[in-house]
Amino acid sequence: MEKLNNNIDRSWIDKLKKPLIISGPCSAESEQQILETANRLNSSYVQIFRAGIWKPRTKPNNFEGIGKKGLEWLHKVKKNTEFMIATEVANEEHVKLAISFEIDVLWIGARSTASPFTIQKIADALEGENNKIILVKNPIHPDIELWIGALERLFNKGIRKLGVIHRGFYTYKNPKYRNQPNWNILLNFRKILPRIPIICDPSHICGNKEGIFDIAQKAYHFQYEGLMIETHCNPDHAWSDSQQQITPEKLLKMLKKLTYVKKCDQKNKIDLDSLRIIIDELDENIITILAERMNISKKLGSLKKSSDIAIIQPNRWKNIMEKSIFLGKSLGLSEEFLEGIFQLLHQESIKIQNKIR
Ligand code: PEP
Ligand code: MN
Repeated sequence: MEKLNNNIDRSWIDKLKKPLIISGPCSAESEQQILETANRLNSSYVQIFRAGIWKPRTKPNNFEGIGKKGLEWLHKVKKNTEFMIATEVANEEHVKLAISFEIDVLWIGARSTASPFTIQKIADALEGENNKIILVKNPIHPDIELWIGALERLFNKGIRKLGVIHRGFYTYKNPKYRNQPNWNILLNFRKILPRIPIICDPSHICGNKEGIFDIAQKAYHFQYEGLMIETHCNPDHAWSDSQQQITPEKLLKMLKKLTYVKKCDQKNKIDLDSLRIIIDELDENIITILAERMNISKKLGSLKKSSDIAIIQPNRWKNIMEKSIFLGKSLGLSEEFLEGIFQLLHQESIKIQNKIR
């Protein structure tokens, strides 16, 4: 790990203006859309223009990307503007094509990072391409080792210009986010690999336009080195991720409002505000889980009603209490606290079930 950390080549980002801003549409759709979006982005704020050419979609029969011809449009942007160009690659063919169109930055998507076979094939295809900047998005689930494993596979093939993108994780179903940010995991990641540039992708964390500013500001608070934010010349008509894309003008307004305090030497220092951000996020998760638990209580209530079973089952309750106290104590929680919490949970659950009766 130390070898990886010490040998990361930061020259590409150190020479760029901080914070680094990557922006552009979720997907390339037409030449006109690509050129117009790029023209409307302000190059004194944005350094890298992004667009997806091949789109990993959860289900088939959605727009899966425009393919190779989109690379020609991106190449035009590269020739006619100051932007560097970024796109997502997910297999050897994508890597070869992106290289042949002189794409500067290749990013690896969250679904690909989660698959060691896929990453290995991408890494093999990149062997010898030591000048490319490769950004690795976090895997969809919060597994730091898997994420670092992807970096190691690339490193083993000679790739040194590396960076990572925090795009959130699929964990709790907090309605505020498409993907849970989990700042705490990112702080742990940074402890392991302090030299690797971390970029935040508020668009894919939020899945909506409204939350982007707040997440971007938090990323700046944690001293991320940049942001990747999706912009589109006509967001409401975007072919993918239309809910989360904003116009280039709205991006500029937002960037002007964000405050970036550079305190590089203290990167690892956790201050009061950082801890509060993490506590707030954990509290939201607790509420999300409580809501899910009480929904199950409702189902339980209906089932007990239709089967004519008593709401209060003393043995079951005793068992829950014992198991929970055992687990909680092993994690360092006090018995008194656990008892209090579980008494409240039980009371609420009974109230809900009584209502159904
Ligand atoms: C994207 O950046 O458009 C994308 C598909 O991202 P992710 O891999 O984070 O879902
Ligand atoms: Mn997208």
